[in-house]
Parts: sequence; structure tokens; C-alpha cells
Amino acid sequence: MFDRPLKILFVSSEVVPFAKTGGLADVAGSLPKALATVVDHGLPHHDVRVVMPRYKMIEEAQYLTDFPVWFADRYEGAIIRQREIEARFQDGVKTIPVYMIDNYHYYHRDRIYDFDDEAERFGFFCKAVLELLPRLGWPPDVIHCNDWQTGPIPLLLKTHYSADPFYQRTATVYTIHNLQYQGNFPPEVLRLLELGMEHFRPEDLEFYGAVSFTKAGILYADVLNTVSRTYAREIQTAEFGQRMEGVLRQRAHELYGIINGINYHEFDPKTDPRLHRNYDAAGAEHKKENKYALQRELNLPVRDVPVLGLISRLYDQKGLDLIAEIVDELMRLDIQLVVLGSGDRHYEDMFRKMKARYPQKIGLHIGFNAVLAQRIYAGADMFLMPSRFEPCGLGQLISLRYGTIPIVRATGGLADTVTEYDPATGDGNGFSFREYDGRALYSAIARALKLYRDDREAWARLVRNAMEMDFSWARSAVEYLQLYRDAMEKVGARKGIRIA
Ligand code: ADP
Repeated sequence: MFDRPLKILFVSSEVVPFAKTGGLADVAGSLPKALATVVDHGLPHHDVRVVMPRYKMIEEAQYLTDFPVWFADRYEGAIIRQREIEARFQDGVKTIPVYMIDNYHYYHRDRIYDFDDEAERFGFFCKAVLELLPRLGWPPDVIHCNDWQTGPIPLLLKTHYSADPFYQRTATVYTIHNLQYQGNFPPEVLRLLELGMEHFRPEDLEFYGAVSFTKAGILYADVLNTVSRTYAREIQTAEFGQRMEGVLRQRAHELYGIINGINYHEFDPKTDPRLHRNYDAAGAEHKKENKYALQRELNLPVRDVPVLGLISRLYDQKGLDLIAEIVDELMRLDIQLVVLGSGDRHYEDMFRKMKARYPQKIGLHIGFNAVLAQRIYAGADMFLMPSRFEPCGLGQLISLRYGTIPIVRATGGLADTVTEYDPATGDGNGFSFREYDGRALYSAIARALKLYRDDREAWARLVRNAMEMDFSWARSAVEYLQLYRDAMEKVGARKGIRIA
């Protein structure tokens, strides 16, 4: 069975390098590449394509076609444009089409999210995707949906398109990247999707008085997953479930956890053009030159002190209040702290105040800056991620790759990828703590600093351990292929047809 390459459509509201607000964009920009080039039982390469909205900031997308989409009681125009991403593999380069759904009214705005008509913007996106595929004459085996912006796709397939011969064999996978963002809207949005109030029931799309796009994805997709095994377990509890735990428990046997990878070509300290000095695991002592360059860039004293890095969206999720709790104590130590981030005004101001208090010890850049980010990953000695919750987390994976030792709260993907250093055996790749508490964070930082100070040889070994770990996409891509085939088998079984 399944002795042919698959047709996989990856649907995402953001994709690197075209539009990014968070980790979802990184996944959408790199998992398709891995899927399109992975060696899979000697089969020819899978046919992977990506679709996203075309936002105002995306330039030079080539016109492909256009058509009217019946949406919200009227025809709304969808212009389809196309860009490409390239996946390098052993024998060459594979080109992956990225279809972009363009609509002036919905997407030509100065940011990606946070408008009053989000249900309409992304409801239209979902409908337009399903209208596009028949026009391309390309029926996918699997539509891989990601987060709430794509939740209506499995729903529409199982309602309006259920009798459409074009989609008879198409399976859906829904991935939860962050359950905090749910796309909950007033019940009237059902009308946008041309669905009746019979769907506004607790066992269907109703969610605490709203209609939830996330719930649509969770209930109607053939298979679900999230981006780490621990988060898959956590979201079935009240503490992490964001009120969705009951629905998720219902589908627990179809909810998987697959850890994200990072792009090992893009994130490679040996070749990264953004670094002051390139290095690899064997020459990790050259990290120091990157540290000095970073200190110069941020106007900090240039010295060999331990540098702690923090690169993050600045929101409640990221556990930044724990840093505030211990900052005075931390600043009594001979260390430097380098922070890059943007987000909530409250946290931006919090770090500004810290910087004003300790100008010689804290380097701060408020904003989004991919170049500085890499220089911090390379130049820091330790990387802080005290998250309240973390579905997967990419920061710790990138920092490991750059030999920067993660100090994390053991939750979600952080718990699955960072293991506490064991002084007795030398095993482990970082430092972690469990309680959501400033003391616990401080004590993890103190353990790291102690090793750094007292045993440089052991520290160097730890750095090497970290750099030699493999969190590339290849392994996770194989797990996704298995998930796709599970989803396809379910469709076959449900419809009594042979899918292979
Ligand atoms: P999340 O998706 O919750 O934001 P992740 O750790 O999964 O968290 O992914 C965050 C990604 O965004 C990482 O690649 C991180 O380096 C990057 N990033 C976050 N904030 C910034 C920033 N201000 N400038 C540059 N890169 C950033």
C-alpha cells in the first residue's frame, strides 16, 4: 500500500520567507521542503505545494489565474499568484510552488492579523483554497491545515464539498501550533460559511457562546497533531487546554505529537553569513569572537563574562515576569543579559526599565531583527526560555545548534528537547526547572553559571553535546508522512474506497 508519491497541500496563514509573526511561519517554510525531499521507501519525491494569503508586504508574486468565489452571500474575487521556495537536497534543488490567494480588500493591509473582520478574511481564504484546487486540476491526497486560520477547511470539506467527486479521496490533517490562538467569533460567522444554526451546538462548532475556527479543525479533520508529545498531553488538561481540553480528550486517540525541526542549512553556525565568525562543534571556542562582536554591537563592555540571551515574542506565554522577579539578584552577578523581542507594551517597557537600571549589563533591542537574532544565538553562552507554556519552541533548538546552552522551563516541547545536564555522567544538553517560579529559574541559571565558571572543560563538552544533537526536519517529516497515510486510510475506511 502507498507505493506512490503523495500530493500534499500545506495551508498556512504565514510562511517564511514571505510573512512571519511566529514559529508557525518557520514550520510552514521548512516542513514542506523536508517533505518534498525526504527519502521515503525509495519512492520518487512527494509532490508538495503550499498555499497562503498574499499580504501587502509580499512583493512580485506572479499572476497565475483568477476567479470569483461565492462567499458571504456574494461573489468575491480571488486572484491567484505564485512564488516558490527551493529545497536543497543531495542531488540538487527541488522547487515547491507557493500559491498566494490575493484579494485587495482582505489582505492589502499594513499587518497580518488583529483586524475586526478576521473571520471573514480567513473564512474567505479557506473557501478560496478549496475553489482553487479543481482549477489547478490537482486533487491532493492530504490537505495539511495549520492553526485556526485554516480550521474551516476540514469543516467545509465535510459539509459543502462532501459530495464533490474532486475531493472524494482527500484527507485532512489539522496541526495545533498554539492553542491560545483559537479564532472564536460571534455565531453570525456561520452565515459567512453558509452553514445553518444547527452547527451552533456544544457538540459541534459552538464554543462558550462563540463559533470557534479551532474547534472546527479539531472536530472535522481526519487526524490531529500538535508540535510536541508533551504539549499533546498537556492540552488535554484544564491547565493548558485553553478550554478546548474536553474536545481534545474526545479525540485523544487521534491526537499525535510531532516535534518541529529547524532548517539545518539556514541555521548553521559553520556557514551562517550573519555571524562575525563562523564555527563548528570542533571549533566552538570561536563563539567568543561572536560574543565580543555582539557586545560591541550592543554597546556593552567587551569582556569574557557569561552572556545570557533572550529572543522572544514578548507575551505572557513566554514567562517574562519570572525574569522581572529575579533581575536585581541576577544583576548582582558578573554576567550580561541580551534581550531581543517585541510584543506587549507592558513587557517592552519592563525591559526598557531594566536596561535603564543596568545599562552596563543589559543589551536590549525592541523590534524584530532576524540578523541580530542569529548574532545572539551565536554570541551568547546561555539562552533563556522560561515559558509558561511552549507547544514546541524553536528558540531552544536554534540555540542548541549554535552551542548556546538553553535554560528552560520543562513544559511542552521544551521538556521534550532539553534535558538537564548531569554532572556525574556529563549527559544532558541544558538546564531546566519545573515550577513556574522565579526562584526555580534563578536556581537553574545558577547551576549553569557554576558549571561555566568552575569547569570550563565540562562546559566545552556540554556545548559540543548541544551542537551535535539532531533536530533537523528529516525525522519529523517521516513522522508526518505516517500521519498523512493514517489520515488517508481513515478516509478510505470511512468511504469504503481503496485509497492507496
Ligand atoms: P513562538 O512561535 O511562540 O513565537 P518559537 O520559539 O516557536 O516561539 O519561535 C520563535 C521564532 O521567532 C524563533 O525562530 C525566534 O528566533 C524568532 N524570533 C522571536 N522574536 C524575534 C525577534 N524579535 N527578532 C527576530 N527573531 C525573533
